[in-house]
Formats: sequence, C-alpha cells, structure tokens
Amino acid sequence: MFGERMKLPVNGTKISVQNNKLVVPDNPILGYIEGDGIGPDITRACLRIWDMAVKQAYNGKRKIHWAELFMGEKAAGKFNGNYFPDETIDALKEIIVSIKGPLTTPVGGGFRSLNVSLRQVLDLYACVRPVRYYSGVPSPMRHPEQVDIVLFRENTEDVYSGIEYQSGSPEMRKIEKFLKEEMGATFFDDAGIGIKPISPFGSKRLVRKAIQYAIDNNRKNVTLVHKGNIMKFTEGAFRNWGYELAREEFGDSTITEDELWDKYDGKQPEGKIVIKDRIADITFQLMQLRPTEFDVLATTNLNGDYLSDAIAAEVGGMGIAPGANIGEHVAVFEATHGTAPKYSNLDKVNPGSLLFSGVSMLEYIGWTEAAELIKTNYPKVIEKKIVTYDFARQMENATEVSTSGFADALIEQIEKG
Ligand code: NAP
Repeated sequence: MFGERMKLPVNGTKISVQNNKLVVPDNPILGYIEGDGIGPDITRACLRIWDMAVKQAYNGKRKIHWAELFMGEKAAGKFNGNYFPDETIDALKEIIVSIKGPLTTPVGGGFRSLNVSLRQVLDLYACVRPVRYYSGVPSPMRHPEQVDIVLFRENTEDVYSGIEYQSGSPEMRKIEKFLKEEMGATFFDDAGIGIKPISPFGSKRLVRKAIQYAIDNNRKNVTLVHKGNIMKFTEGAFRNWGYELAREEFGDSTITEDELWDKYDGKQPEGKIVIKDRIADITFQLMQLRPTEFDVLATTNLNGDYLSDAIAAEVGGMGIAPGANIGEHVAVFEATHGTAPKYSNLDKVNPGSLLFSGVSMLEYIGWTEAAELIKTNYPKVIEKKIVTYDFARQMENATEVSTSGFADALIEQIEKG
C-alpha cells in the first residue's frame, strides 16, 4: 500500500489498538486526504494550525507525522484514473486515524459517492457531528451559546442502504406483486420502492458508541431520536433497542428519564447519564426552543442527516460544522461541506469545518490540550472580526481575510496564548 506513489513518513510511529483502546505514541502518523475543489486550500491552512497547536501545547515533545493519502481527483491522477484506490483504503485501516477534505462525486456512469463508499468499505458506522457555538460567529439564534450537542448518526442502514427499485423495473414489479398479493399491502401502482432496514446489531452498536462518548466526556444525557410513532418496527425498534442496550451494558451508569422522575424526583444523580427519547419532528423544534435539554443525540440515518445540518445552521452553518465517520477504531474525520468548486484554488473559503474536525481528531487521540488551544483561541480571532468572506457578509465592519490569512491570524493568536 505505501510505496512510491504513497509514502509513509519515516520518523513517525503508527497508532495501534491494545485491549480495545487506541495507543497513541508522541510521534503518531496520521493520514490526510486533501480532497477536491476547495480541499487543498483548507487542508493547507489547517495542517499549519493543528501543527502549531500541538507544538505549543506540548513544547515540541509531541508531533504529528502526516501521511498524505490519495482519493478523488488527485488519486485519479496518480492511480491511472482510479478515484478510490485500494491502496488508500488499506492505508486508512493501517494508520487508523485520518482526516479528509471534501470529495467530488463524479456525475454519471453509475458512480457512487466516494464518501458513501468509504463509509461502507471501512464500516464507519457512526457519523459523529459535534455542534457547539463559538462566540462572535454569526448565528440566526438569540442564544446560540445554548447549543452544545454531539450527534451520533447511524451510517450504514435505513433508507440510505441503497435497496431501492425503480418504478416499472422487473425487480420493482416482483416486489410489488409480493407485497400486494402475499402481504396484503396497498399502495399506488408503479410506485418506486425503497427498503428501510434497521437492525438490532446496527442500532445497538451506534447507541453503544453514543453512551460511551457521554460517559467519557462527562455528558449528562443521551437522547434516542426516532420516528417510532409512525414506523414502529424500524424507528420504534431503534428506540427500544437503544434502551435495551443502555440497560444491559450501561446499567450502572445510566438511568431512564422515567426513573429520573419516579426514583429521583427529577434531580439527576451524580455519575448517572439520563437516557431519553424524542420523536424526530419534535426534536427539530426543541433544538431551537430548548437546546439546553440536549447533550448527546443518537439517531437513525435519515433523521440524523437532516438534524445535523439543521443544528449546524444554529451555530454558524456548514462553513464551520465538523464531522467524523468512525468504526470500531478506524476513524476518518472530515469537513462536512462539499467541494464548492467555484471557489477552488481562490484561497477564499472558511477552513472552520475541517479545522474543527481536526479538533475532534485531536480529542479522539487524547491530545485534548492541543484541541483546547484551538477552541479557546478561535473565538478571540472571530471576536476581532477577522473572518473569511462567508462570515464577513453576515457581520458589520468585518475584516475579510483569505483562508490562509485566517490561518495566519489564528496561529498568531495561539502563539501569543
Ligand atoms: P458545497 O460544496 O458544500 O457548496 C455549497 C455552498 O456552501 C458553497 O457555494 C458556499 O456557499 C458554501 N460553502 C461550502 N463550503 C464552504 C466553506 N468552506 N466556506 C464557506 N462557504 C462554504 O455543496 P455543493 O455545491 O452542493 O457540492 C459540490 C460538490 O461537493 C459535489 O460534487 C458534491 O457531491 C460534493 N460534496 C462532497 C461532500 C463531502 O465530500 N463530504 C459533501 C457534500 C457535497 P456560497 O456560494 O453561498 O458562498
């Protein structure tokens, strides 16, 4: 996998897994994929910021050794037109922790989204989206600082699993016949048909990750978001399996919302995480009206897709919303926006989404001091109104800077402390 076309840094040491935990050396090799469109601009800027934060936090005793991995257009150039080389997939597994910029989905030719393929091939079953507010960032909310949640979205099941049959196709006719004649289902003729599988295995491993995160990060509650009032055996089952998992595997550290009221008179006991559930549509409303009631969310795939973007909008939008796709250990952190091709190579866009994905990556490997340096210094730059174009157009008297100019300002701020 590593060789002439993709090089492993010589001085770094690979992260490993022992006793089900990551073992991170002081000189870890982390992977990065620049991505297409605006990817190279934001990646260049962020690599400088992350490296500086690590240097400052550990006085040079720790250092990331970056391995550039190839996917998307850059891969096609190096691997004879292959956008998704096996070598890169193997490298992502071997290096364990990586970060990527956005990738173009080539249109036509039956090409699946590279992002979707990546999640499936590496079984990155949890899409993790932390959403919190940084002061100074323009927001449509009156109290955006009340939003501080981490959303765990199931990544492999639901209507996104690709089991879909086109109206009029022989496959669709076969299923239509089976459903109508054998199962007594009724629906309009010629309907395209999509299947929504939700399994105990898929639901439980996602909820397990969400609860473990809540425990590790001193969060207060985990909300199972579902549409179980309508779809009882898929969405409703997700909810039930979530409670079951919490009871069976985290019985000592969790209580249900019912128990909170029945046994504890509504006062959350120290060291217990409250497991509750909310219907998806209500959750959208509550995330605007009473966001403080939410901490960690665990959702099915489609609900989580909508909800994560909606919540991100409350604290500044896609330009700064970070994300990650995580499997048992292998994790690929990523900017959540696309390649914004009209801004390619203009050194113009907001690096925030990739930047904060990198912050989550630093937290994932346990380098919280470096992550903290970025989190505390970022708002100081924004409060000075030194921002990229997207924030500048929402602020009065802002100083608009380029992507690299923003990185310079943040690095200077981190150095100053
Ligand atoms: P997009 O690339 O996210 O861009 C849509 C708009 O969002 C941009 O025109 C820009 O708005 C704003 N935007 C995105 N990133 C920004 C940033 N870093 N800073 C400031 N503003 C930013 O969505 P798209 O145009 O629909 O998709 C383009 C390509 O990206 C497609 O090939 C799509 O498949 C791919 N895509 C990839 C990923 C991924 O790799 N994770 C995700 C989504 C889409 P203004 O023009 O208003 O300034």
